Amino acid sequence: NVRAILITIGDELLIGQTIDTNSAWMAQQLNAIGIEVVRRVAVADQKEAIIAALDEESSKASIILMTGGLGPTSDDITKPVLCDYFGGKMVVNERVLEHVKAIFSRRNRPFLESNMKQAEVPDVCDVMFNSMGTAPGMWFEKDGKIYVSMPGVPFEMEYIMTEEVLPRLSTRFVSDAIVHRTLITAGEGESFIAEKIKDFEAALPAYIRLAYLPSPGSVKLRLTGRGADGEKLSVEVEAWHQKFAERLYDITIATEDLPIEAIVGAAFAGKNKTVGLAESCTGGYIAHKFTQVPGSSNYFQGSVVCYSVDVKVSLLGIARELIDDAGVVSEPVAEEMAKRARTVLNADYGLGVTGLLSPDDSYTVSPGTVCIAVANKDKVVSKTFQFYYDRIRNKELAVQYGFLLLWK
Ligand code: ATP
Ligand code: MG
Repeated sequence: NVRAILITIGDELLIGQTIDTNSAWMAQQLNAIGIEVVRRVAVADQKEAIIAALDEESSKASIILMTGGLGPTSDDITKPVLCDYFGGKMVVNERVLEHVKAIFSRRNRPFLESNMKQAEVPDVCDVMFNSMGTAPGMWFEKDGKIYVSMPGVPFEMEYIMTEEVLPRLSTRFVSDAIVHRTLITAGEGESFIAEKIKDFEAALPAYIRLAYLPSPGSVKLRLTGRGADGEKLSVEVEAWHQKFAERLYDITIATEDLPIEAIVGAAFAGKNKTVGLAESCTGGYIAHKFTQVPGSSNYFQGSVVCYSVDVKVSLLGIARELIDDAGVVSEPVAEEMAKRARTVLNADYGLGVTGLLSPDDSYTVSPGTVCIAVANKDKVVSKTFQFYYDRIRNKELAVQYGFLLLWK
């Protein structure tokens, strides 16, 4: 297999200010064309750090992709470092110069002598034009290895990868195709699933692998096939995917890799039913997730963010006595919220979520207690969860389980 290493450059990555999404994106793209990423490294905007990474990593792969540190500011030093490393000198590239000047004039900014260096590139690289920004991509080759440097800005990197790097790599390396198929289950754990499909798993050919990816309340199963004949492989992986889906029919919620809000949304759309929410501790987060999905207006009615007791009483019409008696974080209140969400928002299904996400002396339930209820015209069901994380994570979990209860 052709192997690649990804080096992301930037102090902001090391202090955790920027999350390295570039590596994830590049890895997915390389994977799809059959190039295996064997290592991902992040380094500081520092000459020694960049050189050390190149020296250490280049022995392990034949393709080294780098992003970041190409900007005009003095902290961005990748370009001169690479120029040195590959033994070239900096020269002005006319096409880049014209492009940079055009960008400056479009922004009504004077082009200064100091901006000239943005148009300079090492004379030992192949320049990859970047119409999305000022810094071009650079393609170097040395001792049979390929080194590519791209800007850190994600959409600029994606542009250069898509337009230049990926097509060049795929023509250069005749490599295996990789085919992924995903199945998402809910309600049963990994070991239950493993037990149920162990005969299939044993019969899988070596070039098709099964991975379990568990998340709260849900397990994703991913089949990955690898082989020279992409079309034949697709058919084969597809057939296995179908076998697994049939065997796990009762617990399967999706046969492709989709976020939970899209899965639940599609279920409502398919049934031609609508949903309305009464969100206390999730503060509208479930509504936000629902509305991330295109077409959600077909089934999503809205959400009453009823964080205070007053709003639960005034907007939803829940009896204050019930809240006083049962406690605001309780199944009876969640159920009442779900029922009222249905009627107030004129929806087929109502969801109520009330919980205590982090410690607070005024409450009697333990932190991380969340009650979730779902109502339709015939019945209402509720469930109490105990989460053990911090506020933010507990909220994420409440949202996830809210969706899972709605899916049922
Ligand atoms: P430019 O020419 O636009 O200045 P650059 O190559 O100098 O690009 P950086 O200055 O290092 O890139 O980063 C530009 C932006 O891209 C910053 O906002 C940075 O946080 C972001 N960025 C850098 N590396 C990554 C990465 N690996 N994943 C996601 N974002 C990144
Ligand atoms: Mg930088």
